Amino acid sequence: MSISSSLGAPSILTGVSMLSTSDVRSGFYLFPCISHSSHELGLISWALLAKETAADPSLYKLLKLTEDATQSFDRSDLNLTTYWAIHESIYTHEGVLMNQDRVVIIPLSLRNRILQHLHAAHQGISTMEQRARSIVYWPGMSKDIKKARDSCADCNRNAPSQAATTPISSPPPATPFEAVFADFFDHGGHHYLVVGDRLSGWVEVLGSKAGTNLAGAVGLIRHLRAFFATFGVPEELSSDGGPKLTAGRTEAFLKLWGVRHRISSAYFPQSNGRAEVAVKTAKRLLMSNTGPSGNLDDDRFLRAILQLRNTPDADCNISPAQIIFGRPIRDTLSFVNKLEKFSNPH
Ligand SMILES: [Zn+2]
Repeated sequence: MSISSSLGAPSILTGVSMLSTSDVRSGFYLFPCISHSSHELGLISWALLAKETAADPSLYKLLKLTEDATQSFDRSDLNLTTYWAIHESIYTHEGVLMNQDRVVIIPLSLRNRILQHLHAAHQGISTMEQRARSIVYWPGMSKDIKKARDSCADCNRNAPSQAATTPISSPPPATPFEAVFADFFDHGGHHYLVVGDRLSGWVEVLGSKAGTNLAGAVGLIRHLRAFFATFGVPEELSSDGGPKLTAGRTEAFLKLWGVRHRISSAYFPQSNGRAEVAVKTAKRLLMSNTGPSGNLDDDRFLRAILQLRNTPDADCNISPAQIIFGRPIRDTLSFVNKLEKFSNPH
């Protein structure tokens, strides 16, 4: 549940529209096999994995071979030769082939779709690989990940989505949401507050339509209240010092709640940390998911932000969701949450 929906605060879901043709033309979609309809996000469930495994001649053969202890792996079989290196660590679970510690072997028919989900938040090659390696496997996966990133027109047109994380100038926080980074901006006729947690990189996006009584500092404060209600009041909120964030009304609100406001100047790029990178990425997701009218295609944005929260940090290899919830949150790779429910037999 999002902060906004749980608290009745203004929601980013206002003014939802279907994908515009310019979005399609701009090449946001990497893989034509996925429907553009927001009703078909290409969710990958366990049942789908099992169905496609059974329909994949190589994997079906491998499945039968793995389940039948009397048969041995035929290295000369061309269908199986690419799995020789890992054949001793392969096992099956409810019709799906697994490798090592609950890594799912993906049938050919679903690989593009997996890549699309992994890149939903325009992650870089290394972060896509980090998440991929812990949940999925297929021969040549690294090469395919690189190809997927390289063929993304949106990434090639914009700056890299995952700028290198540089050390934070202030001491790192000890707990989640004690220090956050916020950005408040207008885009496509909406006001957006994007807040990132310095420790985990968890990012929240709250929005309201411009021209309403929620414009300006009033809207910003309302978003901050909703955010504080869910995640607690931070000790420190840093921002680049935009006019709404430094407005008297906002400063008074922060003072009331004992929040220190630190202006992290754009002139000191060394102050950029995990939260700033997360906020920048979320901001870019918003831009990529809104058409010329400023309307937001909510399911695509939801898919992207879920991927962002499940993408491990390049330095510590833990995702924001793992830091906050201790596990991945359910996203379009919905089979992942089943993995935790059975133990690794190897
Ligand atoms: Zn991209």
